[in-house]
Amino acid sequence: MDYSIGFIGGGKMAEAIISGIVTSNLISQQNVFVGEINEARQKYLQEVYGVNVSSDNKWVISQADLVILAVKPQLMQRVVGPLREIFSHRLVVSIAAGITINKLSEMLPDKQPIIRVMPNTPCLIGQGISAMAPGETVTEEHSAKAKTILSSVGQVVITEEKYLNAVTGLSGSGPAYVYLIIEALADAGVLAGLDRHMALQLATQTVIGSAAMVKETGSHPAQLKDAVTSPGGTTISALYSLEKNGVRAALIEAVITAMNRAAELN
Ligand code: NAD
Repeated sequence: MDYSIGFIGGGKMAEAIISGIVTSNLISQQNVFVGEINEARQKYLQEVYGVNVSSDNKWVISQADLVILAVKPQLMQRVVGPLREIFSHRLVVSIAAGITINKLSEMLPDKQPIIRVMPNTPCLIGQGISAMAPGETVTEEHSAKAKTILSSVGQVVITEEKYLNAVTGLSGSGPAYVYLIIEALADAGVLAGLDRHMALQLATQTVIGSAAMVKETGSHPAQLKDAVTSPGGTTISALYSLEKNGVRAALIEAVITAMNRAAELN
């Protein structure tokens, strides 16, 4: 693409996106500008990705057509406030959890095009999913640009901002629920006499393979579940145990609890 991109904050999530766009050749390194205050990070990003790095956020914004805000939410006001006038017409994409488009527009000039995004940690290995919510002054072209950038680190869905708390509860916090499930399955393997390493390998690949089955066959999960459940067999007795222990309700409640907590933090 023939435009430049600036990052305010060059931490883990920014690095994931930098890595995605640089390795996919979406934007060439000389058109990537990163504002980062930590010297070790500056050096690292420069050396590994060959991008332009500076502690001068104003300079970074002035070089970019599109700016990604990637500092911690609690720092946003302090970092972005003094840069207000530099943003001008540029598209601003915020990945900060819990900072609403309204709050961002108060920090930025009137009618600033703003897209709020909720990514998740598997973006760090290009397997993430991000939900993006465009603000009122965002054009189709803006959305398409942001979508292309986020697609370099995983899948992208477009939604309204009012659904971002639900997205946070599901895919934002979701990796932690899956890690817990993998850990518990591996523990069960160990309890049943398997060695830890093999138990973890069995558990992890079972989750990856099952998720891939859902994705690649396009079948409803219930259909796939029924297909591996023979009458009077082992799987149906395990499913009965899961249902008795309220696993389904526990997962539903986990997502809703995280969603409600996200709403409190907004
Ligand atoms: P991080 O701490 O790794 O990165 C933040 C970076 O900002 C650090 O490198 C820090 O040195 C830099 N920084 C601090 N003050 C600065 C300033 N004044 N100018 C320039 N740089 C400055 O955090 P992260 O995990 O990458 O998170 C970044 C954003 O992404 C957060 O707002 C977070 O809510 C959001 N997010 C993260 C995740 C995740 O899973 N990590 C998921 C969804 C959203």
